[in-house]
Amino acid sequence: MGKTVICPGSFDPVTYGHIDIITRAANMFDRVIVGVFVNMDKKPNFDIEERIGFLRRTVGHLPNVEIVGFDGLLANCAKECGASAVVRGLRAVSDFEYEFQMALTNKKLNPDLETVFLASDAQYTYLSSSIVKNVASFGGDITNFVPECIHDEIFERLNRKGKN
Ligand code: ADP
Repeated sequence: MGKTVICPGSFDPVTYGHIDIITRAANMFDRVIVGVFVNMDKKPNFDIEERIGFLRRTVGHLPNVEIVGFDGLLANCAKECGASAVVRGLRAVSDFEYEFQMALTNKKLNPDLETVFLASDAQYTYLSSSIVKNVASFGGDITNFVPECIHDEIFERLNRKGKN
């Protein structure tokens, strides 16, 4: 039986850092579910359909990748879609404490669920969706952060400078 994993996140919006993790997971495992979650702690700039749309345009061509919206506990969603592991990217020590806590919580809730951490590619360790939002909101250049096919839509939505 093939190995299914889930790459969960807010992806608000997807960046080159996410794309790198998803692509590497797709090379390692048979089936990768990219789980787009409603995160109660964060108010998203893009609604879930938009975030899924950006992912479809950037990683939708990978044959073993599926993009699915979820609203609920990751431990349950993983079980529902037959995933035996969660794949998360680790950028720096600052990510570690939260990620370790989540991994242990998910294991408690679903003892069959492992968490696999992939070290961020060195060129993307600084990159996050928040960086994209901050830079674009001041009209800054985000061409190094997100692919060309979604760039304009993201930039135009977030750029507050262009709206005054
Ligand atoms: P969350 O809201 O769950 O933290 P994100 O959308 O911020 O979701 O991130 C989803 C996943 O992608 C997480 O595992 C995160 O660590 C990883 N990730 C985000 N940016 C990068 C990056 N630049 N390099 C490697 N992994 C990243």
